[in-house]
Amino acid sequence: MAIKYSIGIIASVLFVACTARKTSTVSVVATDKQEIEAVQTVAAKPDYCSRMEQAGLVEIQTLSPNIKVCLPYGTSENFMGEPMYETDQYAYFQKDVAAMIVQAETYLHEQHPDYMLLIYDGARPLSVQQKMWNKVKNTVARYYVSPPNKKGLHNYGAAVDITIVDAYGEALDMGCGFDTFDSVAHIDNEKKLLQQGKLTQVQYNNRQLLRSIMRKAGFRTVSREWWHFNACTLQQAQAKYKLIE
Ligand SMILES: [Zn+2]
Repeated sequence: MAIKYSIGIIASVLFVACTARKTSTVSVVATDKQEIEAVQTVAAKPDYCSRMEQAGLVEIQTLSPNIKVCLPYGTSENFMGEPMYETDQYAYFQKDVAAMIVQAETYLHEQHPDYMLLIYDGARPLSVQQKMWNKVKNTVARYYVSPPNKKGLHNYGAAVDITIVDAYGEALDMGCGFDTFDSVAHIDNEKKLLQQGKLTQVQYNNRQLLRSIMRKAGFRTVSREWWHFNACTLQQAQAKYKLIE
């Protein structure tokens, strides 16, 4: 399937693309590291951010600025081929969910002080879910997008798509990229994938590392996406949080 390969390749270069976009907003000539950092923070946040903040959500980097964010759905480099969000750089969550992610970061740093977390997706408003559904409903990709009437944890700000990057900003090799729609992305058959040579020991270990820190922080896994974690059950989310419109 074409999607399988294109998205995998895209995911491996995506973080670089987002980083480049962030620095491309710099229009002032900065001469040293401090100045560059200062200028980079000048770029205005899109309206999307104030809408999310009004909904009571928190932007993850306000809790931990070392957590990286690069949202494929905020770029054209996703399986829909166009941006679904106004931003690729701001990921929002319910406050307690964001705190769980920061806790996972602490667990990661206990083992690997130079590694960082990289967020691929967080809270996803229903309006965006609708936009995604409209785009894929007549294509094979419809199997990978929930219709807006079937609310998911992302729509409550209680799920995260996430990976780990090394000290050089390179995403760890997980055997396939974010949004790879293939059994190699599943977590319930990894031992078999390892035996079959479809995952290397390093890729297997990298997935184990991500899962161990996320589970320790209280997250739950889903079987078909190594990158996706739920902070609670759907029923708990419905009881605790407001749907993000
Ligand atoms: Zn997800």
